[in-house]
Amino acid sequence: MSVLIKNGRIVTAAEDYISDLFIEDGKISAIGKDLPYKAEKEIDASGKLVFPGGIDPHVHLEMPFMGTFSSDDYETGTRAALFGGTTTVIDFILQTQGDTLHNALKTWQEKSKGKAVGDYSYHMAVTDFNDSVAEEVVEFIEEEGITSFKTFMAYKGALMIDDGQMINLMKVVKENGGLVTVHATNGDVIDSLVAKNLSEGNTAPLYHYLSQPEVTEAEASARFTDMLHYTGCPGYIVHMTCEGAMNAVRRAAMRNQKVFVETCPQYLLVDASVYENGFESSKWVMSPPIREKKDQEALWAGIQQGLINSIGTDHCPFKWDQKLMGKDDFSKIPNGHPAIEHRMELIYSEGVKKGRISLNKYVELTATNPAKIFGMYPKKGTIAVGSDADVVIFDPNKKHTISKDSHHMNVDFSNYEGWEVTGKTETVLLRGNVAIENGECHAEPGSGQFVKRDKTSYVI
Ligand SMILES: [Zn+2]
Repeated sequence: MSVLIKNGRIVTAAEDYISDLFIEDGKISAIGKDLPYKAEKEIDASGKLVFPGGIDPHVHLEMPFMGTFSSDDYETGTRAALFGGTTTVIDFILQTQGDTLHNALKTWQEKSKGKAVGDYSYHMAVTDFNDSVAEEVVEFIEEEGITSFKTFMAYKGALMIDDGQMINLMKVVKENGGLVTVHATNGDVIDSLVAKNLSEGNTAPLYHYLSQPEVTEAEASARFTDMLHYTGCPGYIVHMTCEGAMNAVRRAAMRNQKVFVETCPQYLLVDASVYENGFESSKWVMSPPIREKKDQEALWAGIQQGLINSIGTDHCPFKWDQKLMGKDDFSKIPNGHPAIEHRMELIYSEGVKKGRISLNKYVELTATNPAKIFGMYPKKGTIAVGSDADVVIFDPNKKHTISKDSHHMNVDFSNYEGWEVTGKTETVLLRGNVAIENGECHAEPGSGQFVKRDKTSYVI
């Protein structure tokens, strides 16, 4: 199929100009003014923004967690992502402790097979590191196109590895051209605060927040960057929330280290007052928790300073009856919230429209840097001749209201219910096919493709 997009304002991480875009066989094949090509489909993008499809580097689809599964599977999750202008997501495979990485990979391949509507890749979460896992890590990088390895410094007994395992994993990953990513919070301190709060009868969601003070994230972020420094391995801290953790990265930069950092819309846009609403607050129970206003300021500043490189969602939705599992015990509330659909529009509205970031920075954070850091660039993450034609046509002025009644995620509430945002995803192309148009999804389950990734970039 060929598509000609006329007169759009094309925005990449570096450029901003009005031009036509010609797409053929799933790729961008020409960019220029008044292109003389005939196409099977022509789209007038006058007055609209045209930018690369968003890449969400942090989602959890049908993830087993706390005795249940996150409620979006590959079909509903990647479709909702497309509606919001995100064409590629990176999900996390979880190794079962005592089992192999390859068995976990098979499980996730089954989850996505025939179901994914948008494109996807996987990070491999290493929860149990030993010599045979080390061999698998090399195979994942060389053969599977899975080049990033997630680690947890919390959730002891389920997901956490200790610092010795961490350092040995870093050495293998560094030698083979991969990247270690981390959930950086101090699990032992959090576990002891959870136990203390529960023993004192403090069972409300507020105590989820109070059991994970800033220091637990600041300490672990510093320890992680120290271990990166020691091993020389490149690293990426997911879902950073707070000033203390930012300062750990700042200190790493002062000793000439580059550590990649991701934050999420919720940490930029919402503060901890959301925990003052009884059990209703359970919809904001996630780890790390929402922080203070001063942390939001630190994160926006971190973006400006180039310390924060990407924005993911940590999309991990649970329906209300799943949240109710923790009605009498905050530690049993499944952690996570629905966000995959709203990242691009929320950050445009709150970031670009409110003058906090430029349009170029917006594209960099939501698409280009995730593609570069995770080995997908320039196939994904930019508008350039030869790149996949993952393209968003975006109405920069259209106002709309976020609601559970209009979203496409498989969850019966919205954390952003009633939020008015400016800017709406109008048309989305996935590898040259019209996936979203006039509020409808035309991409079928199974049309999403697995993206084999290259070795990761040390520099962006
Ligand atoms: Zn996560």
